Amino acid sequence: MLGYINEVDQRDIDQGNGVYSSGDYIGAAGIEYEYESYLRGKKGVSFQLKDNLGRIVGRLENGDRDSAAVSGSDLITGIDIDLQEYGELLMQNKTGSIVAIEPKTGEILAMVSAPTYDPNLLMMTQTRGEIFSKLLTDPLKPFFDRTVMAKYPPGSIFKTVVSLVGMQEGTLNPNHGIACHGGYFYAGRTYGCHHHAPVNNAVDALGYSCNTYYFTEFRNIVDKFGFSNPQKGLDVFGKYCHEMGLGEQLQIDYPNESRGNIPDSKYYDGIYPRNRGGWRSPTIMSVGIGQGEVQLTTLQMANLAALIANGGYWYPPHLAKKFKDNRTIPERFLKKREVSIDPAYFKIVQEGMAQCVIKGTARACAIPDIQVCGKTGTSQNPHGDDHSVFFAFAPKENPKIAIAVYVENAGWGSSYAAPIASLMIEKYLNRSIRPERLPMEERMFKANLIDKYLANHPVARIQPERTAPVRKDTLPKPEEIPSDAPEGLLNGGPTTSLDNISKGKGGKIQD
Ligand SMILES: [Zn+2]
Repeated sequence: MLGYINEVDQRDIDQGNGVYSSGDYIGAAGIEYEYESYLRGKKGVSFQLKDNLGRIVGRLENGDRDSAAVSGSDLITGIDIDLQEYGELLMQNKTGSIVAIEPKTGEILAMVSAPTYDPNLLMMTQTRGEIFSKLLTDPLKPFFDRTVMAKYPPGSIFKTVVSLVGMQEGTLNPNHGIACHGGYFYAGRTYGCHHHAPVNNAVDALGYSCNTYYFTEFRNIVDKFGFSNPQKGLDVFGKYCHEMGLGEQLQIDYPNESRGNIPDSKYYDGIYPRNRGGWRSPTIMSVGIGQGEVQLTTLQMANLAALIANGGYWYPPHLAKKFKDNRTIPERFLKKREVSIDPAYFKIVQEGMAQCVIKGTARACAIPDIQVCGKTGTSQNPHGDDHSVFFAFAPKENPKIAIAVYVENAGWGSSYAAPIASLMIEKYLNRSIRPERLPMEERMFKANLIDKYLANHPVARIQPERTAPVRKDTLPKPEEIPSDAPEGLLNGGPTTSLDNISKGKGGKIQD
């Protein structure tokens, strides 16, 4: 996260308006890069008198024209260092990321990309070049910052967005339930749901993460202006997504932020041209469960948790809190962004997330004295093992932390992402972990998923950033329906055989 510095190159010198000269150092990554103009010092000048052999014989005008070097301004971040270190420990031997935000201000509390590198190794020493090229070719891609650069399908956590937009647009009645008979039936195919208690309203739907409900409700939004006019409905949906900072850069003070992807009507018109039949709501209904072409960064997921916690507003997430010389942080971080959705609908989604932790897919991660509102996701990965996702905020009243955890190729949302997030929440709010939760902590510390990650990523396939594959048919195949963990898994720890169930091979489909 801190980044490192490099010796300036000719381009830096040319673009630096005289600030740099050969041999100077410049921030090259992380915060060092972002706040280079704040953190760099001011060079001192000393005018010396030399004789005709180049020997220094004195100072010009007794040094009156000299100026002392000024070191750069110290930056104070909002990072909670204990929480940051704890997150790094929990994520060791895993690939993925954690972002935790203070919802009321947008200040980042912790930001972990795993695996990472030790910036001390990149100090200006003899071995630097060798270490640098080793890191660059590492198949685990330590320079690829998974908090802001990786674009992931969000999976079921995206159902919160569908709930909010549906209620605001009047296509979703929060008091109505749905009869889920184990799946959604369309055109002779079944898109599965897992076994769950009856869904009587919008709170139950989120709590039990019913796929049937969300296929239906997402289609209702897209079809609001008619079945043959899905473009307009989808773009209304997209408008709310952008208000929530989804599919656009949040402008964090950290380099290389990705926009993610919220597909709009133009995007689908490109894939399914109108003169060849176009597309309809069933074509894209996997978006309703956070699959298909939807991709978010972990930062965007954490920000979504923050704005739900706040009941409909957010401040752009940022690392800088203040500077020691009293310079203020960039203006954009102080600007409140509001979502045009009734706060009453946010209350319903908050309650759904509370129920998810009380009796739904995340119940094993409940913390006895803290009411956590959270949502699991198991993000189907067309390239290999599914990803484990969880996003949450706590406590329910007057929330102090919003968090998103994404663990690549780790399977169920409740197997890794939810326990890691709940430990982070407990650590932040209580500063310690309850004795009965120490075995869970131990399990997370010890879990090593690196081999699994490598099995999913033959070196040849590694690219800096993978964009969404354009699929001919975006309807999810039955075996691709994402899933979440049955309760048994939560206490017994994850097993690989459950991956088969997640792919529908065992006939049971979750979340
Ligand atoms: Zn269902």
